[in-house]
Amino acid sequence: MSKYSIWVLEYCRVEELPASAVVYGAHNRGTLRLPFCYTLVKGPDFAALIDVGYNDVDHGRELTEMFGISNWRDPHTVLGECGLTPEQITHVILTHGHFDHMGGTDLFPKATFFIQERELSRWVWAMSIGRRFRWLMEAVDPGDVLRVVELARQGRLVSLEGALEDVLPHIDLYPAHESHTPGSQYVVIRNDGKRDSADVWVMAGDLIYQFENLHGNNEADPYYVPVGLGSGSQTNMLLAIDEMIKRAGGEMRRVIPAHEEGLKTVFPSRIAASGLRVTEIALADGEPSRVR
Ligand SMILES: [Zn+2]
Repeated sequence: MSKYSIWVLEYCRVEELPASAVVYGAHNRGTLRLPFCYTLVKGPDFAALIDVGYNDVDHGRELTEMFGISNWRDPHTVLGECGLTPEQITHVILTHGHFDHMGGTDLFPKATFFIQERELSRWVWAMSIGRRFRWLMEAVDPGDVLRVVELARQGRLVSLEGALEDVLPHIDLYPAHESHTPGSQYVVIRNDGKRDSADVWVMAGDLIYQFENLHGNNEADPYYVPVGLGSGSQTNMLLAIDEMIKRAGGEMRRVIPAHEEGLKTVFPSRIAASGLRVTEIALADGEPSRVR
């Protein structure tokens, strides 16, 4: 009995990203394909997104070119694959402030947003300490930070100081401070509705990009490898990976990296007319499949 349906929705991609950006230290491994996605969690009384992608206008368009991004599609197209519109999104959980996760807040006009307070305030701090520190802002659009502040002014932002259980029924948020970013958080979905759940999905944000961060190149004798981009510490990223696996009952396959092309080898998926992939992680009782 699954309470919620969960789909990872690709909205654009980078065809050739240096592997070292994904797996720390993989400097001579060439490039790999990196899908950019947000995750839809649909319940009987809400439609929540984990992250919002970005908007391909203004500085977002410049970032498209800087990162070599292709096939960006707006959320009407992307969510339409699951029969929803952006106006029907009621809640958004922002895992962190990088442009490809927090840049699309304007596109979901009815939603209430959840972020770690530290994530927002530390980006303001990073902007204030001078140009020589601008590497910190490499994947952050200052306009996105201002847009999140505007959400607060509108009464549509909830900023969290640490963990929050049941942000929505059976959905918990946990911080991973000074890891990939100053105030990253990940999402735990207890899909049988139980506190001590046997059906947990952990949506990892960018605490991992791909499966390899969970097990290195040795699935038989796994070891954790940090992602190639982080402004906190690699040690904190490894501790967060360990914590996520434990919250998933020790099952690595239940920790979901949204930038992983290989989700298609584990979960049912299809390529939409847009050329983008829809991946079905879980299906609530009575909900029609969107991939079959
Ligand atoms: Zn990121």
